Amino acid sequence: MEYEIWNPWGRELDSVVCSTSRLKTTRCASKRVDWPLTVLVLQEGEYLMKKVLLTGITGQDGSYLAEFLLNKGYEVHGIVRRVAIEDPEHRLWRIRHILDKLTLHAASLESFASIFNVVDKVQPDEIYHLAAQSFVSYSFEDEFSTIGTNISGTHHVLAAMKERAPRARFYFAASSEMYGNAKETPQNENTAFHPRSPYGISKVAGFQLTENYRQAYNLYAVSGICFNHESPRRGFEFVSRKIVNTVARIKLGLTKELVLGNLESKRDWGYAADYVKAMWLMMQQSEPDDYVIATGESHSVAELLQIAFEHVGLDHEKYTHIDEKLYRPAEIYELRGDAAKARNELAWQPTVTFDRLIHMMVDAELESLTQPSSKKS
Ligand code: NDP
Repeated sequence: MEYEIWNPWGRELDSVVCSTSRLKTTRCASKRVDWPLTVLVLQEGEYLMKKVLLTGITGQDGSYLAEFLLNKGYEVHGIVRRVAIEDPEHRLWRIRHILDKLTLHAASLESFASIFNVVDKVQPDEIYHLAAQSFVSYSFEDEFSTIGTNISGTHHVLAAMKERAPRARFYFAASSEMYGNAKETPQNENTAFHPRSPYGISKVAGFQLTENYRQAYNLYAVSGICFNHESPRRGFEFVSRKIVNTVARIKLGLTKELVLGNLESKRDWGYAADYVKAMWLMMQQSEPDDYVIATGESHSVAELLQIAFEHVGLDHEKYTHIDEKLYRPAEIYELRGDAAKARNELAWQPTVTFDRLIHMMVDAELESLTQPSSKKS
């Protein structure tokens, strides 16, 4: 029997296959990881274990990716804001169940020195840069912090990696919002960007910084151009979560109406846990490259709404109201991705249908609202 083992030292030996005689199950005494791992024994007492550093580990994707990487045997480090460490109850709820297996470092994305220090100290093999002001509508209200955090933050992580961990691999969380109202549908890796929000602009800059570091400094730096992905861990400000949460509250008699903006916008919605797998796959290739990650289907907000209400046996028309103040100043009408490259080169594909995703999210809301002590994971 053969096992694949991760080698943290160097691209050329990125994974090796070895026989069972060189494997043993051990407890790793270092850091805060204390569950059994299967490792490759080099000499007595030496073992291989990849180290990974995540920014945005407290967010939706960060929490799923941290779980995924722990299951793969990685030593997982995360950068969080200092306030998160001071208020774990509210700020770390998505990773509460794995906190004892993570090593968290307080740093500020806006401060190059603090990011530099963490990268230098951790010496990661892989860096997933997920942290961002990620809510598109809010980016119109506060352009400056969105652009500042998202562009400088990305630049700081890349520059720190170049200086202190140049053999590491870097993933940037790019977005379908970079396409804006694209001239072609579906969008693929060659579709031109026409961003329509400060958020989209900041992601184009991050994408180009990542590409430039790859080309200029020969770093393994890639971008995943992810289309919308959702889950029960989605932030409450996002339309999908707002809908499923309000539908569940209406069903339980806790509220009476759902107020929304543009119902006609169409997006390509997938399941977040599928998307973090694609991120990891992008980091395991022999050559760095960018990939679109999407389901290939688009659905309107109105469809999402209808499926959510139908799931709890209610008529959406009775409860939904439109408020034009909730429209974006510059709307994107349809985003739909063509993930053929990811399918062919990464053997990646989504596993959860749109209907199933919405049902899963509504069910999670109902459970959370009826069992207040069971947290939202
Ligand atoms: P979330 O909004 O759930 O998480 C964002 C993360 O970024 C949180 O951990 C948050 O920390 C952190 N963050 C925000 N601002 C700062 C800051 N100033 N300093 C440090 N950390 C900060 O986003 P997702 O998990 O959904 O998305 C992950 C990444 O993928 C983001 O970059 C997003 O833009 C991108 N993306 C997401 C898509 C999606 O559909 N989910 C689609 C395409 C791209 P805290 O908890 O402290 O606020």
